Amino acid sequence: SKGTISILGLGAMGSAIAARLRETGYTTTVWNRTPAKTEPHVKAGATAAATVSEAVQAGDITLAVLLDHASIHQNLEPVAAELKGKILVNLTTTTPNEARATAAWAAEHGITYLDGAIMAVPQMIGRPGSRLLYSGDENAYAIAKPALETLGTAEFEGTDAGIAELKDMALLTAMYQMFGGMLQAAAMMRTVGVPATQTAKDVIDWLSAVLPLSGDFAAVVESGRYDPAPGQDVNFTRPAVASLITASREQGISADLLEPTKKLLDELAATGRGTADWVSIIEQLTIR
Ligand code: NDP
Repeated sequence: SKGTISILGLGAMGSAIAARLRETGYTTTVWNRTPAKTEPHVKAGATAAATVSEAVQAGDITLAVLLDHASIHQNLEPVAAELKGKILVNLTTTTPNEARATAAWAAEHGITYLDGAIMAVPQMIGRPGSRLLYSGDENAYAIAKPALETLGTAEFEGTDAGIAELKDMALLTAMYQMFGGMLQAAAMMRTVGVPATQTAKDVIDWLSAVLPLSGDFAAVVESGRYDPAPGQDVNFTRPAVASLITASREQGISADLLEPTKKLLDELAATGRGTADWVSIIEQLTIR
């Protein structure tokens, strides 16, 4: 065996992780609130722990894959003493501040804490495309890395425990905005009988062609030189977005997903920044 790892939580994700660790030569001890879920793992060679306490004592590294921040604290606070001096890797999705709070709690109890964010669905664990982000204790990362790398590409983002979750959520934000746009396009085209599957193909072609512009836009943001505009300015982009809103409404389709972009462009125009690059809407996003 390459070592013993305890896995807390055998939901869809925890089960995939436990199975992968076993397949790659680790000894696993598993715990789940509903004990029946440990059965297939025991059949495959895992040891089932009856309590969280028993589970965390079995391994040098504990991977927690529970539902949320509340379930982490509910189950781990009672076993803080048993976790002392050990590595806790929390793969449960939480907000960045919740991750920082758990890191502070761990530090108080002498627990070495690493937070992780999983950019994959359970079926992808251990397969190409699976990517996991980590932040927190760098030494814990170095020790756990061989095991973590069996789950997917491992990236250490920094010693601030919240950074992995922040990056995960930033990337998911970009994803939901993008897919929201795809669904809006499908809603518009459906009004003239074009099936969503066709619009999806068109959207994939179009977004693939324009997505690399992200780098150019980011370079303008980095330079901070918006005016005069290196690219399209607010005076051009504002009426362009307004006509997208009009076109949606003409087809009987809501423009709720587009309105926020128009609002930011309106704010720039109203404050004398019509000749600034439209990507300066990023500066409007800071809550003052
Ligand atoms: P599931 O709903 O499949 O499993 C949830 C797990 O959490 C179960 O083991 C459940 O135990 C346990 N649980 C829930 N509440 C408690 C509690 N109060 N005390 C103890 N155990 C509890 O979720 P997933 O496995 O899919 O997700 C687990 C984590 O992984 C989540 O934070 C999720 O955001 C994250 N994740 C999941 C992804 C996915 O695609 N599935 C992708 C990326 C991250 P029980 O069996 O007893 O109900």
